[in-house]
Amino acid sequence: MPELPEVETIVRMISPRLTGRKIDHIRLVRLDIVRPARTDLAKCLPGRGIGRIYRRAKRIVFELDDGNRFYIHLGMTGRLTLESPKSAIKAHTHLVLEMGQEELRFVDPRRFGGFFWLGSDDSWENDLGPEPLELSSEQLVVLLSQTKRAIKTALLDQKIIAGVGNIYADEALFAAKIHPRMAANRLTKEQIVRLNRGIKQVLTRALKHRGSTLRDYRDANGDSGNFQKLHRVYDRTGQPCWNCKTKIMRIVLGQRSTHFCPRCQMR
Ligand SMILES: [Zn+2]
Repeated sequence: MPELPEVETIVRMISPRLTGRKIDHIRLVRLDIVRPARTDLAKCLPGRGIGRIYRRAKRIVFELDDGNRFYIHLGMTGRLTLESPKSAIKAHTHLVLEMGQEELRFVDPRRFGGFFWLGSDDSWENDLGPEPLELSSEQLVVLLSQTKRAIKTALLDQKIIAGVGNIYADEALFAAKIHPRMAANRLTKEQIVRLNRGIKQVLTRALKHRGSTLRDYRDANGDSGNFQKLHRVYDRTGQPCWNCKTKIMRIVLGQRSTHFCPRCQMR
């Protein structure tokens, strides 16, 4: 599933190419990807200009020139690509926004993602915690003191921190040398400082390498990310730890695969 670095990579690619452009037409709307149901996109979008495109958590937010907003969530298998109007439409393309010589296409075979019309509603951020790249250790201490859940599970909760998912939670815990099963509210101040540094380091490096492609993720040009080659623990079960050569272990926590080094990340 695309997380902060993958979504941010897409935003950085499409924003300079689409900001200021006008949406001429929309095509191929598969209605069940649109929320709220019965939103009439043919009324909301054509004729409007793109004012701004930005990321919040794992959402790609579009602000139109009339102040209305919508966002696209990529879910598990979603892709948002910029293509020439002449290129063939791929299978599972659910929405096409025609903007002059560019087409923004939303493809999502498993349809866990979608198009969310916000209009002028400002409450859409209420369920999101702070952005991890802007988070202070003091803030993180407060956020983690409120939950007894395993730290790995707490990191996936978008109300605590927004934008971190399974890959980068595992990688950040390895960077901070913290066992994923540790109770979040039992971490020491020192561990939380390390964790905050680990989260930022891992996300920044992933962003530099244009995200991770394990199966489905592609950027706005349809290319894979490269950071998966630099994963220390994620998806490396049984392979030697980069630090100590111990075999990386996989456990299931909160129904999610969790990877860690039993030696570097002792409880
Ligand atoms: Zn190790």
